[in-house]
Amino acid sequence: MSDAADTPTQAGFVALLGAPNVGKSTLLNALVGAKVAIVSPKPQTTRSRIAGIVMEGQAQLILVDVPGIFQPRRRLDRAMVASAWQGAKDADLLMLVVDAERPDDGETWAIAEKLKSEGRKAILVLNKIDQVAREQLLPLAERFNQHGDFTDTFMVSALNGSGVADLRKTLAARLPQSPHLFPPDQLTDLPQRLLAAEITREQIYLQLHEEVPYSTAVETENWVERDDGSVRIDQAIYVQREGQKAIMLGKGGARIKALGQGARRELEEILGRRVHLFLFVKVRENWIDDPERFSEWGLDYNA
Ligand code: GDP
Ligand code: MG
Repeated sequence: MSDAADTPTQAGFVALLGAPNVGKSTLLNALVGAKVAIVSPKPQTTRSRIAGIVMEGQAQLILVDVPGIFQPRRRLDRAMVASAWQGAKDADLLMLVVDAERPDDGETWAIAEKLKSEGRKAILVLNKIDQVAREQLLPLAERFNQHGDFTDTFMVSALNGSGVADLRKTLAARLPQSPHLFPPDQLTDLPQRLLAAEITREQIYLQLHEEVPYSTAVETENWVERDDGSVRIDQAIYVQREGQKAIMLGKGGARIKALGQGARRELEEILGRRVHLFLFVKVRENWIDDPERFSEWGLDYNA
C-alpha cells in the first residue's frame, strides 16, 4: 500500500437498509457517482453485495447493498432476512433510508425498532425530499428520532443529488481508522456498464484468438437492476461483416453461448451478485464513426 505511514486512512463498510422502493439503489448510485465503480474480484468479507467503493479524501467507503428486509413468510424470505441482518451486523455504518413522501410503511418502522432493540445506531436518511413540502420534513425527522436511535439525520434527494455530498462526507468522517481495504489500483473510474463491456470484449479475445476481428466492439445497451438483487445486462457485439457475425455466433450458437457464460461468470464475481447477461451480435459497417459510441465513452464526437 502506498499510503505514507503517518497519513491516517479510514475504511469501512456502509450498509443501506430500508423498505423496497424508498430509493436505496438510486442513493447508492448517487453516492458512488459516475466516477468510481468497484472492479475488484477480491473475495467479499461480508455476506452482502459490494455495490460500490468511493474514495472521499483519505476515507474508503465500501457501500454494501443489503437484500430487502421485509416481513418474512416463506422459508426463502426468512433466509434472506437473516442474511440481510447479518450484512447489517458486519457493517461499520448503517443507514436507514426512508421515503419521506410515504414514511409510514410498516417495514420502515419495523427496521427502526429492530435496530433500536439490538442497540445499533444508524444514520437516518429521509429521501425524496423533492416530493415533500419543507415544513413536513422536520416533524418527520423528529418522529423518527423519538422512536429510533439515530446518530445523524439527513434529508436528501437521491434523484437530483441534493444533500448527497454532505451525506457522503459524514459517512467518511464516521468510518473507523483503518488501512484501505481495497488497494486503490484495484479501483477504476470506468462506469460499470463500460466495465461490463470490457469484460465481454476480453472473453472475445480469449476465446476467438486471432479469428477475432480487431474491429469488434461491445456496448452495454441496457442495465436493469432487479428487485431480487440481480442485474440484467444487455450487450451488443458489433462486427463489420456477416462473416464475422457467423464466427461470433459459432455452430448452432455455441460460441456466443460460451462467450456469454465466460463473461457472466466474470461479471458475477466482480459485481458480487447474480447477472443475467444477454448478448446480441449486430453487423454495423461504420460503428467506428457512430456518434452514440462517442457519447457512451464520454468523448466529444465533434472534437
Ligand atoms: P429501492 O427499491 O429502495 O432500491 O428504490 P429505487 O432506488 O429502485 O427507487 C424506487 C423509485 O423511487 C424509483 O422510481 C426512483 O426513481 C425513485 N426515487 C429514488 N430516489 C428518489 C428521490 O430522491 N426523489 C424522487 N422523486 N424519486 C426517487
Ligand atoms: Mg433497489
